[in-house]
Amino acid sequence: MKSAQIPGPNEPLTISESENPRPQGTQVLLKVKSEGVCHSDLHLWEGGYDLGDGQFLKVTDRGVKYPVTPGHEIVGTIEKIGENVSNVSVGDDVLVFPWMGCGECPACKVGNENLCDTPKSMGLFQNGGYADYTLIPDSKYLAKLDGVDPDAATSLACSGLTAYTAVKKANQNSPEFVVIIGAGGLGLMGVQIAREITDAKIICVDLDDKKLETAKEMGAHFTVNSKDSDTVKKILSICNDKGADSVIDFVNAPPTVKTGLAVLRKRGNLILVGLFGGSLEISLVSIPLKSITIQGAYTGNYNDMVELLDLARKGVINPVISKRYSLEDANAALEDLKARKIIGRAVINP
Ligand SMILES: [Zn+2]
Ligand SMILES: [Zn+2]
Repeated sequence: MKSAQIPGPNEPLTISESENPRPQGTQVLLKVKSEGVCHSDLHLWEGGYDLGDGQFLKVTDRGVKYPVTPGHEIVGTIEKIGENVSNVSVGDDVLVFPWMGCGECPACKVGNENLCDTPKSMGLFQNGGYADYTLIPDSKYLAKLDGVDPDAATSLACSGLTAYTAVKKANQNSPEFVVIIGAGGLGLMGVQIAREITDAKIICVDLDDKKLETAKEMGAHFTVNSKDSDTVKKILSICNDKGADSVIDFVNAPPTVKTGLAVLRKRGNLILVGLFGGSLEISLVSIPLKSITIQGAYTGNYNDMVELLDLARKGVINPVISKRYSLEDANAALEDLKARKIIGRAVINP
């Protein structure tokens, strides 16, 4: 098998060749069809996360060991299975659930391996999908595509999953009004999902009128441009001056969170998703008095991914792939992503 590996932080990826592993027990050998190129791959390549204020969070401090094969958005065809595999068969096209956990901690025990205390995520803590073949430790992490486009399915393991769990958290509040802040790729997916799985009126907020236009086409009932000085007032008047039951912030920067808190009604929940970052001072007394909940959403569990695949099969969401690379061009893919040359999503087809 051929893998594009990161030898160390900021070093060009190199193609390494090795013999195909032979799956044993519950393991599965997958022939990779499509691998999503994700911003998180860039952080792995750069060795960590810039936290602002001159602080840098190293991935090696979180347990990453180089060299590593990146790639956590993996779609492939089953090539070989171990002797204990019965839920999938050779020849099946599958999406991999990459957020694997230890299986022992409290989160894993209730099926939330994505929130594991000692994660074993593919393409991060173990080799991932920038390869022509990849070994999956357990067939329980595979979900059949059954008609979903392989390239489009890749992001359903990552950004799509995050958008889906965020909307599910909003929906726990049985909202009459949901505010979705940010009409980028993730936010628009959020609008489409919210339209399908909630009964709420959807209010989409962004700085860009063009994106808001798209949000309306995709199902937002109302749009508000946050450049307006009276954004908060406008949102409140849409919500009959009571405020929104749920706000999902796909940006998560100080001004957007401020808006989110200002339009939240009593008992409302604010779900923070974006990784823009920064910090904010909040009035503490309003939290108990309004009995509001502030929570985060990051990826999702295996069952969420299966539900999301169902939605994709129904045509509710349809991620657009704008660029395709070969495995040999993995460096170019990451360089292009870094240089913001990729609009929409890119995949590697090994
Ligand atoms: Zn990703
Ligand atoms: Zn665990």
